[in-house]
Amino acid sequence: MVVVGAGQAGLSASYHLLRKGVDHVVLDANDGPGGAWRHRWASLTLGAAHRVHDLPGFPLGSPDPSLPASQVVADYYGRFEQEYGVPVERPVRVSAVTSSGDLLEVATSEGTWRTAVLLNATGTWDKPHWPYYPGRETFLGEQLHTHDFVSASALAGKHVVVVGGGTSAVQFLLQLAPVATTTWVTRRPVEFVSRPFDPEWGREVEKRVEARVRAGLPAGSVISNTGLPLTPEYQRGIDAGILLARPMFTSIEPDGVRFADGSFVPADVILWATGFRASLDHLAPLHLREPGGGIRVEGTTVVRDPRIQLVGYGPSASTLGATRAGRAAALAATRYLSSEAAA
Ligand code: FAD
Repeated sequence: MVVVGAGQAGLSASYHLLRKGVDHVVLDANDGPGGAWRHRWASLTLGAAHRVHDLPGFPLGSPDPSLPASQVVADYYGRFEQEYGVPVERPVRVSAVTSSGDLLEVATSEGTWRTAVLLNATGTWDKPHWPYYPGRETFLGEQLHTHDFVSASALAGKHVVVVGGGTSAVQFLLQLAPVATTTWVTRRPVEFVSRPFDPEWGREVEKRVEARVRAGLPAGSVISNTGLPLTPEYQRGIDAGILLARPMFTSIEPDGVRFADGSFVPADVILWATGFRASLDHLAPLHLREPGGGIRVEGTTVVRDPRIQLVGYGPSASTLGATRAGRAAALAATRYLSSEAAA
């Protein structure tokens, strides 16, 4: 069996496959452990992250919340891989999965694997979403995406237009405000919600995303399903005028952005905090998408091709969801193999 990706989802799946004694390999494009967390910007501390859920049987404990999440999680996943002997091969990037009779052929940077079942756990980090606005290519300043953000100090003294209504945008604005001039723009009005990001809210969000995925629709961003939690820090940002969003600009000009009412804001930098899409290009040859643009999934099994399990997709795109889905996918894949063997 082949698992693609060694983030929270792939490691959880591998743990359950190991427990069941299922022979498998985990192919991971990264140079070392940590999944997407390995690449998160240094100022995203563990304390500033929503929460990193425990991997199965291996509590994260209480690391220093002031440490970068990238460092803590890479170290945590690395220890997990060692403890359980996760059969990970890296760096191995899967370029295409094709069907060859009953088997799947997995073409990679390091050769081809053949498998009856594939558990895909490739996350979203490798597919940053850059929405198009007219004039984008004429902008003379710098454009960067959350994917490439390094630190607020790298943008000191500049006028930064931050695009996007999610947690990343809010965190960038709060970090940039002391060192740069900022303008915040969002496609939809921002909804700050006065309730804690607790397990009950998490379950509500999962249900909403699950319904979309069942209907074969794209999962949608987490924020489009939740709103933003109104923390005391965010309230201070609102009171200070930092977290006040304007409606989205309509075009980009060489020196700034133009709004529907004709007003113009000069900009040195446009920071696109516009989220990510599921990183699934390597599955394109299998034609898994529905007319609605999404991939229809029952549990974690792809309806169009039950040889494929999607883990960390749609409702399971959080560390908690990915951990649970890893287990469900390992069970479903094992069941599928047994039923094929019996047929
Ligand atoms: P990833 O961690 O992305 O792992 C995927 C792995 O697959 C990577 O190692 C990658 O190299 C590999 N891969 C990708 N493509 C290929 C390929 N073609 N071939 C081989 N390997 C490949 N969730 C939370 O629960 N709490 C948070 O605080 C939180 N904060 C977040 C902050 C940001 C900025 C973002 C973008 C997301 C955040 N999330 C958070 C959601 C987060 O993405 C998930 O929680 C979770 O870490 C994703 O795990 P994963 O295993 O699905 O994917």
